[in-house]
Amino acid sequence: MQFRRLKLSGFKSFVEPAELRIEPGLTGVVGPNGCGKSNLLEAIRWVMGESSPKSLRGGGMEDVIFAGTATRPARDFAEVVLSAQDANGEELEVVRRIERGAGSAYRINGRDARAKDVALTFADAATGAHSPALVSQGRIAAVIAARPAERRAMLEEAAGIAGLHVRRKDAEQR
Ligand code: ATP
Ligand code: MG
Repeated sequence: MQFRRLKLSGFKSFVEPAELRIEPGLTGVVGPNGCGKSNLLEAIRWVMGESSPKSLRGGGMEDVIFAGTATRPARDFAEVVLSAQDANGEELEVVRRIERGAGSAYRINGRDARAKDVALTFADAATGAHSPALVSQGRIAAVIAARPAERRAMLEEAAGIAGLHVRRKDAEQR
């Protein structure tokens, strides 16, 4: 899977709609402290289904919505759109939106989707919200300090077999 484009609106410090093209190859994000580099990475994890506000440096999920500054009012929603090309070369567009008091909603290629559908979409591509391909600040230390079971989960995700576990869990619940 290749990420192509990221669109953000009202997500954390990205109050104005912003669009980034992601070119093939290695992408670097540079800028002064506090300019929003980590927020960008978190936006990618969030649209891929991250469900833990803590791992997005928030107390609750609504903390991803632009909270306002001295000169700008807060927003009442945040939306992130991730466009990608999947392993079969098909276009994929995933949208996650959160509104204050209304929780998160997802769309996959224009259709309403469940968080589980989004998790499955990305689990197979080894690019899930907890993918070791996304190394956030402090995560290197976490890998080193991980318990064996956690490290195994990281390796399984990296090896592309994590999707099988998601499928099995899904099947067991039916
Ligand atoms: P560093 O180089 O220090 O790691 P960074 O470029 O990774 O910095 P981020 O941590 O992405 O910076 O951005 C931090 C900024 O985002 C802070 O100014 C913080 O106030 C702002 N921010 C985070 N959440 C929100 C929010 N919900 N509303 C408004 N601003 C926010
Ligand atoms: Mg940072």
